[in-house]
Amino acid sequence: MSESATMLSYCPHCGNKIQISQVRTPGGVDDDGGWVLKCSGCANPFRQHVGRDIQMSRVIWGASVLATYDDNVAGSRNHALEKYGLSENPKKEIAKKLVARRKKSGKKTKKSKAIKRKQ
Ligand SMILES: [Zn+2]
Repeated sequence: MSESATMLSYCPHCGNKIQISQVRTPGGVDDDGGWVLKCSGCANPFRQHVGRDIQMSRVIWGASVLATYDDNVAGSRNHALEKYGLSENPKKEIAKKLVARRKKSGKKTKKSKAIKRKQ
């Protein structure tokens, strides 16, 4: 037996509502994955994680499916994302580089001058 749930998502570009029928098959095939969707509001592609069962789930309205990726297939997600110019978290890599640079710069030593007052 499979269970279905309605999932609401939003386009990251324009905020258009996207309704998804998510199908789960307890004890069934491990079909974790997601889609590359094309928003029907602004026509921009974006990544939408669905989970299992990606082969059974579908978009009700708000977007059309450009590509389906399966997280259990090596390289499947990256292949689908790269095809539509959506790279895998490039912002995180940039953030890591900035942190590494900050650590290299030396500590600023501030010497506070104690003023002795005559009593
Ligand atoms: Zn949009």
